[in-house]
Amino acid sequence: MSEPNFTTDDAGIPVYSDEHSLTVGPDGPILLQDHYLIEKMATFNRERVPERQPHAKGGGAFGHFVVTGDVSAYTKADLFQPGKTTELLIRFSTVAGERGSPDTWRDPRGFAIKFYTEQGNYDMVGNNTPIFFMRDPMKFQDFIRSQKRRADNNLRDHDMQWDFWTLSPESAHQVTWLMGDRGIPRTWRHMNGYSSHTYMWVNAEGERFWVKYHFLTDQGVEFFTQHEADQMASMDTDYHLRDLWEHIDRGQYPSWTLKMQIMPFEEAKTYRFNPFDLTKVWPHGDYPLIEVGRMTLDRNPSDYHTEIEQAAFEPSNLVPGIGPSPDKMLLGRLFSYPDAHRYRIGPNYNELPVNAPRIPVRSYSKDGPMRHRNPGDPVYVPNSKGGPHADPAVAGEPAGWYTDGEMVRAAYTLHKEDDDWGQARTMVREVLDDAARDRLVDNIVGHLLNGVSEPVLARAFEYWHNVDHTLGDRVESGVRTKAGERDFKAAEQSNAARTSAQAKA
Ligand code: NDP
Repeated sequence: MSEPNFTTDDAGIPVYSDEHSLTVGPDGPILLQDHYLIEKMATFNRERVPERQPHAKGGGAFGHFVVTGDVSAYTKADLFQPGKTTELLIRFSTVAGERGSPDTWRDPRGFAIKFYTEQGNYDMVGNNTPIFFMRDPMKFQDFIRSQKRRADNNLRDHDMQWDFWTLSPESAHQVTWLMGDRGIPRTWRHMNGYSSHTYMWVNAEGERFWVKYHFLTDQGVEFFTQHEADQMASMDTDYHLRDLWEHIDRGQYPSWTLKMQIMPFEEAKTYRFNPFDLTKVWPHGDYPLIEVGRMTLDRNPSDYHTEIEQAAFEPSNLVPGIGPSPDKMLLGRLFSYPDAHRYRIGPNYNELPVNAPRIPVRSYSKDGPMRHRNPGDPVYVPNSKGGPHADPAVAGEPAGWYTDGEMVRAAYTLHKEDDDWGQARTMVREVLDDAARDRLVDNIVGHLLNGVSEPVLARAFEYWHNVDHTLGDRVESGVRTKAGERDFKAAEQSNAARTSAQAKA
């Protein structure tokens, strides 16, 4: 016998009509006792949860991670032990755009993974770039506001973006990366993911290491030129979302190889760059990549809202064997992510199936809005009533480090080769080839010509001169020449309009 298929309201009560509200006569007023109509209007009004601020536009998929290497000498984390397979969820995103914005805007991409491990959820909330625009969370809010919209006309504004960047020289490495080819990935499948932050790994003997994660795409890195991206933005705003969904749907599963950079704990003090500064990479020559395993995405979400929009990633989800580092941006994010989820989704967001660990939860959290399962008695600890109690043998020592000093508001201690321009310069001079450098110049010039005015423009030229003299010269002459051509064209058009008006008169 087939299942009945009649409409009910949210309480399961059969409804009389999908189409007509309850009125006094066919032309009469609507009655307040039409509970079904009121339920429909009220639930519709509440369908959206607040969009993420930032990383609002994105998409994701499910998959698994298989360990192919042996890094057990560096971490005891269960998910990285030889041969282990762990289920996961990933979400890719742009940073600045709103939920409906085009996927192909120039922007870093979020690369957030939730591993459902046997020790609880481990979240690696990374980006497709190994670095970031700043090194102190005090500036993050200002940075994002400068990327979003003005207060007066609600428009995005390159002038305020460059105003912020040129007053924040630590942004130079990331802005160079952003204006280069990787600033617009061809698809999410064709980009790498990086932890960007430095984390700590701890092995079974309690030895500590500093580490960086590199998820290298097995599809190869591919990008869109600015022109291709602009065309795609007008044809298909959801191009990246569609590409991922269609490939997984066809069984063409994308994969990434995870490789790690691993620094012995003591080397951090004397390393030539401050290893916790998020604006710096560790050159591969200093810390070569060590293979760990492969991530494959093989299942599309079936309900975007409950599985992706309400997915809550938090860098504070760290399992035994993995810890934070003194990276100030990371320490700020440990607070801000769960705080955002409590606001955006609600305090019991971890009860939603996509966020819930795949192992039993034995916490003492209780009640609050939308709670559907409480731990029961006893509701306190310590107790002599059989409730759970913390076991250091299972949790292990906190992954930490010794620290001491006056309370200050200050920049990081500078290491031997720390400055704001050097690594950006290395990228321009040694990583990019001539064609990539030409595209970099074109991209910067095009961006600056889009609404950036003095005095910000002069500071932008100085900024690029600091990265590389030749690059600075090329940017400055490119902007001045094209601005001159534009002024000339505008003058020509206005002269032509005046002449034709005079002729008509
Ligand atoms: P390497 O020559 O060993 O590595 C350079 C790396 O640059 C490549 O492996 C690749 O990273 C990345 N790359 C290649 N083309 C581009 C591009 N168009 N835009 C951005 N990145 C690109 O040199 P080092 O490790 O000594 O680093 C030199 C410079 O390379 C750094 O100052 C930094 O700007 C950049 N870089 C370094 C990374 C690192 O973790 N060491 C990572 C990414 C960039 P991948 O293999 O990850 O694709």
